[in-house]
Amino acid sequence: MELLYKSTRSDSEPVTASKAILKGLADDGGLFVPEQLPKLPCSVEELAKMTYQEVAYEVMKEFLTDFTEEELKNCIARAYDQKFDTEKIAPLKEADGAFYLELFHGATIAFKDMALSILPHLLTTAAKKNDVKNEIVILTATSGDTGKAALAGFADVPGTRIIVFYPKNGVSPIQEKQMVTQKGANTHVVGIRGNFDDAQTGVKNIFGDKELAKKMDEAGFQFSSANSINIGRLVPQVVYYVYAYAQLFAQNKIKAGEQINVVVPTGNFGNILAAYYAKNMGLPIHKLICASNENKVLYDFFETGIYDRNRDFILTSSPSMDILISSNLERLVYKIAGADAKMDADFMASLSRDGKYQITDAMKAELSDFYGNYADEKETAEEISDLYQKTGYVIDTHTAVASKVYRKYKNEAKDETCTVIASTASPYKFTRSVMNAIDHKYDDMSDFELVDELSKISKTVVPNAIEEIRTAPVLHNTVVEKNEMKAAVLRFLNI
Ligand SMILES: *Cc1c(COP(=O)(O)O)cnc(C)c1O
Repeated sequence: MELLYKSTRSDSEPVTASKAILKGLADDGGLFVPEQLPKLPCSVEELAKMTYQEVAYEVMKEFLTDFTEEELKNCIARAYDQKFDTEKIAPLKEADGAFYLELFHGATIAFKDMALSILPHLLTTAAKKNDVKNEIVILTATSGDTGKAALAGFADVPGTRIIVFYPKNGVSPIQEKQMVTQKGANTHVVGIRGNFDDAQTGVKNIFGDKELAKKMDEAGFQFSSANSINIGRLVPQVVYYVYAYAQLFAQNKIKAGEQINVVVPTGNFGNILAAYYAKNMGLPIHKLICASNENKVLYDFFETGIYDRNRDFILTSSPSMDILISSNLERLVYKIAGADAKMDADFMASLSRDGKYQITDAMKAELSDFYGNYADEKETAEEISDLYQKTGYVIDTHTAVASKVYRKYKNEAKDETCTVIASTASPYKFTRSVMNAIDHKYDDMSDFELVDELSKISKTVVPNAIEEIRTAPVLHNTVVEKNEMKAAVLRFLNI
């Protein structure tokens, strides 16, 4: 049966999966959502025998119904290959009573690789299916990890170009170095003087610029998005929750049908929304635990039903979660509004006008699957240190936010349910914060000395992604004001 995608903001004609992937955002500014969520096509016993790639096919085929079996299997094979440093792709590590689902074994050592290794293939396949002749220009705002993962995914992919905007002072030194050393003639990296929300708003404005779209088309280009609003990002993220459940069953940690909790360090709400979709597909998930850093907009939302971005933007040690507008929350808001596009559009209008909106009591009641909390900077550092002292396992700052929030939840709810914590970045990506949390004797070392110290204390090998940038030359050094983003795009495309 064909699954179609419609906008969260109006009742316009639904589109096929491949069209939704190509467009990224709906014409009315809404996000594409599936008309209904499919059910898991296999039993846990069957899933437990499958490789990551096989699980990926079973899950993704239910969402991307206009892709042929051959097309989809091809995309999966090209995405989840030796770029990952483990055959398991997303292994589980048990530490101190929880299972850390390591989503950082891809090319850029953060969980964005899980979706961005496959998105370029989904996108170029979708373009072929829809007879698109234009070159596809990927425009992305990044708080650090998406940018590099998208660059790595799209570099030198024929028929595509990619432009990444990042907040010049809002990413870690290693994240920045990873981006500005990116090779590939079709890549372009631009720092902006502003924060992530400025970058994201700038990109949204460029996408919504009808005149620019016309000019692009005349020059043989069209935009698409690699941001987590693209359904081609979201669908591959559902896979690893199903895979994690199947692995827990295969390892005799749970019985078939037994519920688990999932904890997700959250920024744009993409990763946790994928877990929510997995639950709605029938995966036995009890609580979806949404962990925030000091930018705790989402915690306040779950507490009060009011989403309010009017507050100071705080730079934390978990920069990929430094976000005040969680774009993907709109998909949840739409769903709990009973798929009422008018209502969703009103909330989003109020968000852009007043910076806030309040959901109804009936909608708030639909949020009982979720638990929200946050960890401040001190708690995050303590969590890294505590877990390391106790078990020898070293986690990154984002994962530590989730880990701490899980402890808070467990204390409050006295819930012993088997729990999976999404581990979203390698500690090597945030070495300075991680090592400082463990011992202040590391404070004065250089970034790469810290990398070597981390390798020693965690007894892990330095990932390739880090070795590569030790000596790589800087290839991108453009920095622009936040109102110059459009001009930067035109310059790069030479139009
Ligand atoms: C992007 C990112 C997050 C946040 O994920 P969302 O899907 O935006 O909620 C958390 N941790 C890391 C390391 C990330 O890169």
